[in-house]
Amino acid sequence: MPAATLPPYSERVSYYTYLVAFGLCMLLTVVAVRRIPAVQRGPWNLLLLSSAFWATGEVYTVVAFEQGWETYPSLADLVYFFGYFPMAMAVLRLDRKDIPGRRSGSLLDAAIVSLSVATLAVTFLVQPVVSDSSQPLLVRAVSSVYPLIDVMLVYLIARLLGGDRTRTRSVLWLATAMISTLTADVMMNVQSLSSLLGYTAVQNLLWLAFYLFTGFAAMAIGRPSRQAERQAEVRAEESGVDLGALRLAVLTFAAMLPSLVIITYGSWDSPDLSSVVQLGVGSAFLISLVAVRIWGLIRQLRRQAWRLDVLAATDPLTKVANRRTWDAQMSSTMLRAQSGGEPGVLLVALLDLDHFKEFNDSHGHQAGDDLLRRTALEWQDVLGPEGLLARWGGEEFAVLLRAEDEIAGLARLDALRRVVPEGRTVSLGVSRWDGRTPPGELMLKVDQALYEAKARGRNRMVVAGDSGGPGPAERPRPVQVA
Ligand code: GH3
Ligand code: MG
Ligand code: MG
Repeated sequence: MPAATLPPYSERVSYYTYLVAFGLCMLLTVVAVRRIPAVQRGPWNLLLLSSAFWATGEVYTVVAFEQGWETYPSLADLVYFFGYFPMAMAVLRLDRKDIPGRRSGSLLDAAIVSLSVATLAVTFLVQPVVSDSSQPLLVRAVSSVYPLIDVMLVYLIARLLGGDRTRTRSVLWLATAMISTLTADVMMNVQSLSSLLGYTAVQNLLWLAFYLFTGFAAMAIGRPSRQAERQAEVRAEESGVDLGALRLAVLTFAAMLPSLVIITYGSWDSPDLSSVVQLGVGSAFLISLVAVRIWGLIRQLRRQAWRLDVLAATDPLTKVANRRTWDAQMSSTMLRAQSGGEPGVLLVALLDLDHFKEFNDSHGHQAGDDLLRRTALEWQDVLGPEGLLARWGGEEFAVLLRAEDEIAGLARLDALRRVVPEGRTVSLGVSRWDGRTPPGELMLKVDQALYEAKARGRNRMVVAGDSGGPGPAERPRPVQVA
């Protein structure tokens, strides 16, 4: 943030313009932070504390300009340094919400990226400053701390962007803010190295952008509803292996960066350093091979995870959904329907093959298995994508069907009776979901309807609540609707 690097060509006007713009951004941040609910405000108060340190530095710089004190390092530098600590604490507190198992991974990722940058910063920024004996010790100390602070900024940005659950809109603004201040700091560091670049107004704009974006970040904090939070948690947990292609590419680049610099440095600055260049090329190549190997392992892991998911969700004999999937799908379908927006009606049915024991006894268990498989295939065909077929247990199946209206839905369910292979029959209990009844209670109603269908002579469909008398048992027979 040092306004000490304000353009020397600028007049008093540019100092004061900066100060006023800075003040306005701070005001925005203070107002935005006060709107944040008290439980979430901790890290943002720390960010305000950082800004307060930097504000003191900015004011001191302007006073020093007015008084004509031209010292480096100045009191302002000390205040700037202190300002970074509350900021670091704020970021670490924002990062606490991540998924425990994933967290160690994202910490390591942030360490890899910042260590890569640290290697370069120490070699090219700190080392030359420290060994420059023409400068007083204090100047050398202060100048070598700035690049290290930037390494810390890289670490903090990586922590913010690397977490699974931390990437909210507000955190993205904060990361953008930190990236702009980092860019300005790097420009300042490069300037201190070579006189190639003059001081630019761009830096001041970048520092102002930091304060402005921090304000935006605080403004972007909403009150997330419990449901939205839960959905975000589920998304993060479902996203599987956390090392995606982009993350691996970033990590590989970070690991390769020192080698790439060795190559450039060796071939540009000292043509006689050919062995150094060879080492650089060799290690960059090795790192990319390791990355390719890791990517292969990740893909293998993902394929296995996918297969396991399928195995855990389906019934091994009929390959339709199992009870576990049924329970999960039923709850999520009901939740979706309750939150509105889904047209039509939701029907739930239990199907039980008639006299299946007898079929087993006369044809053998193997033939029974085969019949279950073929029946499930036929039913899936009839139900299409709107219906979920699950094996409820034994020779019983469950169906969840979304239909335009009840008549159409019941007709579709009754059609299941007509496609059972080997001339076998099935009985169905059905109920329409009223939008309130919990799943367990609903299944009990459906089971009672199925019992009714069996009691009335089998090979029929009974809708829960139906009180009709016994009907003919030939197949096919019409729907019995209450
Ligand atoms: P109902 O018309 O009253 O339903 O008579 P049912 O014989 O179908 O009913 P019950 O519950 O008495 O018998 C179910 C039979 O289903 C018993 C069992 O041998 C058979 N069964 C359950 N699971 C399997 C399976 O995975 N494979 C085979 N082949 N048979 C099974
Ligand atoms: Mg049964
Ligand atoms: Mg049966």
